[in-house]
Amino acid sequence: MKQLAVVLSSLIALAASAEDKMLNLYSARHYQTDEALYANFTKQTGIAINRIEAKEDELLERIRNEGAASPADVFITVDAARLAKADELGLFAPVKSKVLEERIPAYLRGNDWFAFSTRARVIIYNKDSVKPDEVRNYEDLAKPALKGKVCSRSGSHPYNLSLMAAIIAHQGEARAEEWARGVVGNFARAPKGGDTDQIKAVAAGECGVAVSNTYYLVRLLRSEKSEDRKAMERVGIVWPDQKLQGVHINISGGGMLKTAPHKEAAVKFLEYLASDDAQNYFANGNNEWPAVSTVKPANPALASLGTFKADLLPIATLAKNAATAQKIYDRAGWR
Ligand code: FE
Repeated sequence: MKQLAVVLSSLIALAASAEDKMLNLYSARHYQTDEALYANFTKQTGIAINRIEAKEDELLERIRNEGAASPADVFITVDAARLAKADELGLFAPVKSKVLEERIPAYLRGNDWFAFSTRARVIIYNKDSVKPDEVRNYEDLAKPALKGKVCSRSGSHPYNLSLMAAIIAHQGEARAEEWARGVVGNFARAPKGGDTDQIKAVAAGECGVAVSNTYYLVRLLRSEKSEDRKAMERVGIVWPDQKLQGVHINISGGGMLKTAPHKEAAVKFLEYLASDDAQNYFANGNNEWPAVSTVKPANPALASLGTFKADLLPIATLAKNAATAQKIYDRAGWR
């Protein structure tokens, strides 16, 4: 009997240590460079990563459905609004980490989640039909001078929700709605497609202006297809609101789940994502800027965009205003 107890307890100990040597990562990222990112973590810590990849909203739904039995340890995705949604649903556990607090600036942290890279939402214009001085600020997109020239993706998309959330924070709901109505009045066509579709439509002259996340522009600049690079020659890029609060910034990031079976490994992984090496992999994988300001990525196409003033609005505010943002787009008819 005593022997059995010994065997049992050593079995339990074995199971526990095996458990600690693995991490279940639910990720909405799927970039080739991420392979090296994960392999490097396993090499450093001995913790194997079991990766589940799917679209952002699917992963969130999956975690919800799995409930307390979810094997997910860490959830990483893009856009503050999506991370906020996970946070609101109570999916994240608080993480106390000196490393994360020191490396990730306060405005790039949510309640229970962290940004690991940033992207800017810029204005792009067709060099033949629009002058950069016509689109110095987001506000300009609503001005009558751009009637019939603005293309956009859906107002329900998180990127546009977060942009609106920032406008609400800076200008209040009434002015934000006035802006949305003005932009809708300037539409060249009903909203459709993603950011890349807007860039291509601007390049083709179907629209004069649009907004886009920076990494889509860099992706086309680095594209192996010559037509992509040619398209970019016809497109100008403006950093909006440079004399105001700065260009709207969004993030990719993640957090540890409340139900995480491997909490220690989860914190280690989040801390690893803030390390110099990982920051480079993480940001370069999608042509973004590292969240850790001392890390300078070697990405000439990204660097070619130049420097800019970023809006330092706390990323958590974007999350807070997302629901109001949707209501404003609905009222303005930005479908
Ligand atoms: Fe995207």
